Amino acid sequence: MILIDETLFAKTKAIINKYEFTFKKNLGQNFLIDSHVLNKIIMAAEISENDVVIEIGPGIGTLTSAIAQKAFKVIAVEIDKTLIPILNDTLSRFDNIDIINEDILKIDIKEIADRYSNKILKIVANLPYYITTPVIMEILEKKFPVESITVMVQKEVAYRMGAKPSTKDYGALSLSVQYFCETYIAANVPQNCFIPRPNVDSAVIKLTVLEKPRVHTKDVKLMFDIIKSAFSQRRKTLLNCIFNTGGFGFSKEEIVEILKSSGFDEKVRGETLELSDFARLANTVFDKLKISVDNKF
Ligand code: SAM
Repeated sequence: MILIDETLFAKTKAIINKYEFTFKKNLGQNFLIDSHVLNKIIMAAEISENDVVIEIGPGIGTLTSAIAQKAFKVIAVEIDKTLIPILNDTLSRFDNIDIINEDILKIDIKEIADRYSNKILKIVANLPYYITTPVIMEILEKKFPVESITVMVQKEVAYRMGAKPSTKDYGALSLSVQYFCETYIAANVPQNCFIPRPNVDSAVIKLTVLEKPRVHTKDVKLMFDIIKSAFSQRRKTLLNCIFNTGGFGFSKEEIVEILKSSGFDEKVRGETLELSDFARLANTVFDKLKISVDNKF
């Protein structure tokens, strides 16, 4: 347990008043003021003294100091330059925190990974919600050697990331994240755990990166193009979704044929398919496309 001597709310208020800090809505600045939630993030992240943790958006350093008590090193990346003097103050007792005033999307994570190649790299953050998906997908798609990503995000997004087939939250985001990770929702977090209060509820999700992607397919981009197409119109069949989004150049009859030879009924809906089903379908489309290209020459 991390011991907090004053309530986080009073402490946060005092720092904000001292520095006359004004919140910037466009940077997603909602600071955590609940120590139970803070502990849940730390517990879910399973930080040890062999870990280098990149924290995205430290704010006034609440989560940062809790991470620093457990990690070998924290690299705290904060875009808002007005928070840097505050962080230098609130984190002054630590000698294992690097504060970087930069946009996380411009940070060379590979360089950090190379610098600490004998350590385990983890990402922990109360994410600014406007960059949740780009940040997570960038880290996963570029295959940085990150062991896990433990983040507070908008509740709806967390549930979409972790959703299983045939549920209302299941979609392209679920499949993209689960292609790379195991997902675990560690906490649901109500709006009153932050100042200022956001308009939405939040959740803490842990993404544990798999050693290799969950499925093998001949053309990953093609598989995700099919997935995107499959969820383009939720109420329509997979056949109609694929056909209505261009059909990869095939006629409706040919798409029926592709579905059947992949083991699916022509009335199947995309939302019932697992990642392995999409991989199989993508391989059939890939082979068909290859045959039609070969036949042209
Ligand atoms: N970690 C703090 C906490 O839990 O109280 C603050 C979290 S607040 C939701 C998000 C933080 O991310 C803010 O401090 C904001 O300035 C910062 N931020 C927003 N966009 C960023 C970006 N592109 N790169 C780095 N930090 C960013």
